[in-house]
Amino acid sequence: MFFGSYYTCENEGVMREKSMNELPLMDENEGIVLFYPNVPENALEEVSKVLHSRWIGQGPRVVAFEKEFETRFLTNNTALAVGSGTDALHLSYILAGIGPGDEVIAPVFTCTATNIPFLYMGAKIRFADIDPETLNINVDHVRQLVNTKTKAIVCVHYAGLPCNMDELLKISREYNIPLIDDAAHALGATYKGQNIGEITDFSVFSFQAIKHITTGDGGMITLKNRDLVEKAKRIRWFGIDRSAKQNGHWENDIYEVGYKYQMNDIAAALGLAALAKFDETLKYRQQLFSEYEKQFSGIDDIKLIGTGLTDRTHASWLCTVLVEKRHDLMNKLRSFKIESSQVHYRNDRYTVFGGRRSDLPNMDMVEDKYLVLPLHGKMKPTDVEYISKVIKSGW
Ligand SMILES: *Cc1c(COP(=O)(O)O)cnc(C)c1O
Repeated sequence: MFFGSYYTCENEGVMREKSMNELPLMDENEGIVLFYPNVPENALEEVSKVLHSRWIGQGPRVVAFEKEFETRFLTNNTALAVGSGTDALHLSYILAGIGPGDEVIAPVFTCTATNIPFLYMGAKIRFADIDPETLNINVDHVRQLVNTKTKAIVCVHYAGLPCNMDELLKISREYNIPLIDDAAHALGATYKGQNIGEITDFSVFSFQAIKHITTGDGGMITLKNRDLVEKAKRIRWFGIDRSAKQNGHWENDIYEVGYKYQMNDIAAALGLAALAKFDETLKYRQQLFSEYEKQFSGIDDIKLIGTGLTDRTHASWLCTVLVEKRHDLMNKLRSFKIESSQVHYRNDRYTVFGGRRSDLPNMDMVEDKYLVLPLHGKMKPTDVEYISKVIKSGW
């Protein structure tokens, strides 16, 4: 059957960690896996309907998925579905006007998907440090890095906890540059009563295999500026205006380079099925997270990341703890058939990003301490109790 960790967006990282630790990936029947895809009961029927219809490519289900997404999460912004979260990130960077040689401020601690598209574009990444309390982007460091050459700021709501949006928005307005939030972990999260997806110029969501909602692979970009919607649609499809083409006129010249970044109707059918159940999904994940919080409260050796902020809600995608002797804890968990992993690695560890930076003291401090524990819809609150009990017995 499926092996939870194969679904992380940085499988390469997981494999590397595995070889370091000699921990094979676990079978779900063996114990408690880290991730499990969320495919609701009715998904099969929804997909089957699409497969028996005329449209399996980008068609009416994609439009319906975008509309449903807007209904659930947005009041002003426009949602456009794409083939992956990475597609959505790249598209947002293009729409933000980033070009070769431009400087961007981006989080160092995130999925490589956040930063890889900058390499497609020849942009210059200035990695911002983390806040050691939340592992989100450190606003003070963003302030130090920002200058007149900065073309955009990107943040990621790590684990599902929103960043300090007011302060980031303030910087983006001061310098008149777009703020883009990678919200791949944060579907359903809120900040001061506003949904993530509504706050910035561009928000990006992922429906990759292990995210809150999965479409196999898929993503969504939400746009504040309506004037960019038509351009975004063109770039999603080679640079061609698909609606003009379908009217039979020769109005489909290509003026700008586009990509093949659309979502298809098979994926959208999965998305619609999962969206219909999303409130339950989110509530359940939050319940499991709260159970972890309850279990670890008052325990000095385990610091649960992302608690204690009352002005925002946590989408509970990951449960991350800071511990000493992480590898020992991982080994102990494995001996009790509990999977754990780093999931993401500081991106400057990858050669392709130009090598390790020396101005990221908080990242240096937590780099060997953070660990992600299982959190997904197939788990029960009693599994959290069990995991916590194993951890609390020492390592
Ligand atoms: C999953 C993820 C993405 C997007 O990944 P895709 O696999 O391209 O959908 C982007 N950023 C973060 C932080 C992620 O976790």
